[in-house]
Amino acid sequence: MTQMDALRDKCLQCQNCPLAQTRHNVVFGVGPAPSDIVFVGEGPGQQEDLRGEPFVGAAGQLLDEMLSIIDLGRHNCYIANIVKCRPPQNRDPLPQEQDACIGYLEEQLRLLQPKMIICLGRIAAMRLIRPEYRITKEHGQWTEKDGIYYTAIYHPSALLRDVSKRPETFSDLLSIRQMARKLNCI
Ligand code: URA
Repeated sequence: MTQMDALRDKCLQCQNCPLAQTRHNVVFGVGPAPSDIVFVGEGPGQQEDLRGEPFVGAAGQLLDEMLSIIDLGRHNCYIANIVKCRPPQNRDPLPQEQDACIGYLEEQLRLLQPKMIICLGRIAAMRLIRPEYRITKEHGQWTEKDGIYYTAIYHPSALLRDVSKRPETFSDLLSIRQMARKLNCI
């Protein structure tokens, strides 16, 4: 069994926070390991909770389209979330829930050894880039920490609600492709 499989097994048993009581499935993450590129969302929605896979609902369809524009897909990047269990009514995960769960993502990232991490939306950006991160001002900018390049883009759910954000996101996607090429990820 790989270390990632062992971590998944542990995560599937997790009772570290109250989200364990309402979940149907733990949504651990998908993709090759190791992986040069990792996308991180905030937490599973209804479809993800029912299927145990990240980004398989409406937002996930849009994410797949966004990835394909820049020559990416589920075969060549890893997709995970800050919290692995669905917050009821899709509310933002609470700080205590994030704290209870973040160790799994940290361990995933240690095993994945990514060169680039793309935060999907403000929750992931505030957790992984900076607590004061402002997605409207800072999306598409790059920060390097410990040899890993980080950026954030609008969450696909935000792009479904507000199509006016799509042109900016298209530029951000091109910047992600450029960085991926520069770092020999694709
Ligand atoms: N939104 C997220 O942030 N993550 C998912 O897995 C699905 C929807």
